[in-house]
This record gives sequence, structure tokens and C-alpha cells, in this order.
Amino acid sequence: MRKPLIAANWKMYKTPNESLAFLKEFLPLVENHERDNIAIFPTMSSLAYCIDACKGSRVDVGAQTMHWLNEGPYTGQTSPTMLASIGCDHILLGHSERRIYANETDDMVNWKLKAALAHGLVPIVCVGESLEKRQSGLTEAVLRWQIACALNSIRAEVPSTITIAYEPVWAIGTGSTATPRQIAEAHRIIRREVAFRLGQHCADETRIIYGGSVKPDNISQIMAEPEIDGCLVGGASLDPKSFSDIIHYQD
Ligand code: PEP
Repeated sequence: MRKPLIAANWKMYKTPNESLAFLKEFLPLVENHERDNIAIFPTMSSLAYCIDACKGSRVDVGAQTMHWLNEGPYTGQTSPTMLASIGCDHILLGHSERRIYANETDDMVNWKLKAALAHGLVPIVCVGESLEKRQSGLTEAVLRWQIACALNSIRAEVPSTITIAYEPVWAIGTGSTATPRQIAEAHRIIRREVAFRLGQHCADETRIIYGGSVKPDNISQIMAEPEIDGCLVGGASLDPKSFSDIIHYQD
């Protein structure tokens, strides 16, 4: 049974003080919530503060990116060892904003995924097609390619902790949510590719979540699809009440 995950991607928003003010209001709102796993992905400068503030709560904390090596002359980078050493347990990989603005390639996503698994970090691997690819009928090809690259030379016995986030680029931060039917179809493609690469058992255990303009008023419809194991939320996760409303969606 896959327990849903509702996760907040704060992108480049919130200073440490603003992050802590969010958690002060948010943590009491979710303290008795058991239906879903909850995670937040703050900026690097807020990470250690949030990890501390979330200790003993139901909320996991992760980083938005990392390097794949443990150390080296890579100015501006943070390594998996460094994240693990401060108690960070989740990592977002291959977000489309990283692929677009930081030139993160499919190979890098694969190296980072292997590093995350080696360091016991729970990885959330983001995949998704651009509007141009969707309109050219290439959604399936893009998703299969991104999954195949991300999982390259990963062994089937390791990855039951892998979560995949289907985030169509055209739905991120645009207000255009994919329909539950489009999402479910993409999730079936992704699960089939995971099964092809790692076996059916692994595919059955892999959580596949959706991201792209999720809000309190569309989450119930999205989560009604059995293929959808949770959501990654950007804009609507920045406000504690709005993110709590998303988490407490009506079944
Ligand atoms: C995201 O950044 O992962 C995301 C889904 O953003 P938004 O919810 O704002 O579309």
C-alpha cells in the first residue's frame, strides 16, 4: 500500500525567519494528520532551521537540489553527505526549473539519484513534458526517456523509496492544472516504464505524485484518481493555511 505524500516546494522563497514563522503556524494544523506523509522543501539557507523546527513533528524536510559527489572544488554546491549530516532526509531531483535554468541533464539526475540512494536520502525525481512536446504528441516518449535515464543502472532491490513526481512543465506556476485524466494517463506511462526497468514489484511500490498548480480547490479531484499517490505543491504551499487546506483535502 503506497502512503500518499503531500510535499511543499518553496523554490526561492522565504528567509529563515519567514520559514520558521510558517512552521509555527503550520505544524499545529497538521499535528494529528495521519492519512498522508508531509514534506517541505525550503531553500538551502532555511534548511537546518526547518529540520530543527520539524523534529518530533509529522513533517519531513528535504533539499531542493544537491551535487552527486561528497566533496570537491564545486563552488556553490552542497553534497549528499552534507545534507545527511544535518538530518536532511528527502531530496528533490530534476525539477524542471533546475533542468531549464541550471542546465541539469538527464545524466546528472541519474548520478544524483544514485548518490541519494547511497546516502539514505528519500529521492523525489521530477519528470514532465513541455507544452511543445505535448502538442507534438510526444508526452509518452519524453516521460519514458526521462524515467529510463533517471533509473539507468539502478538495481531493482534498492529503490522502493523512490518517489516520482509527474510535473508537466506547462502546468508549473501557470494556473493551468492538468486534468485528473491527463495525470492518471501520465502516471500509468511512468509506472509501466518503472516496471520495465525495475520489475513490477518495484513499480507497484513506487509512489507517483503530481505537481502543477495544485490548490485547495482542485486537490480533491486530483487525489480521487487511484493512480495519483500525492502532490508536489509550489505556489499554494507558501501560505500555511493554504498548504494545510491542501493536506486536509476531502476524500
Ligand atoms: C513546483 O514547483 O513543483 C510546482 C508544482 O509549482 P506550482 O504548484 O506553483 O505549479
